Amino acid sequence: MVSGKDRESPETADDSPDYWDRKTELQKKGIKLFSQIIYRDWCKACGICVAFCPTRVYDRDEGGKPLAARPDDCTSCRFCELHCPDFAITIEDRYPDRRKEER
Ligand code: SF4
Ligand code: SF4
Repeated sequence: MVSGKDRESPETADDSPDYWDRKTELQKKGIKLFSQIIYRDWCKACGICVAFCPTRVYDRDEGGKPLAARPDDCTSCRFCELHCPDFAITIEDRYPDRRKEER
């Protein structure tokens, strides 16, 4: 089990009070956004995700670990998730489909 402290997701929308308004607005525009979940304690700063992301979502922090500097540019190709040797990145829908009653 990964604690919340280890998980970094600067663009998680789950707790946003305007979740449904924003989701509807994005759907009307045909835009789909994704979140890059980075487990920083697992990352060994190899730089693969930063170097090979086709849309250059990541910058590196002072320790060489990825920062999702341009999260809206993610196309969910999942290259980073599939090639990270330490399973330190997961890509998620930022506004996943679900029933309103679940919120
Ligand atoms: S899923 Fe693809 S586009 Fe998104 S951050 Fe990873 S490598 Fe970049
Ligand atoms: S590919 Fe994985 S281990 Fe390498 S810098 Fe990215 S998150 Fe860290």
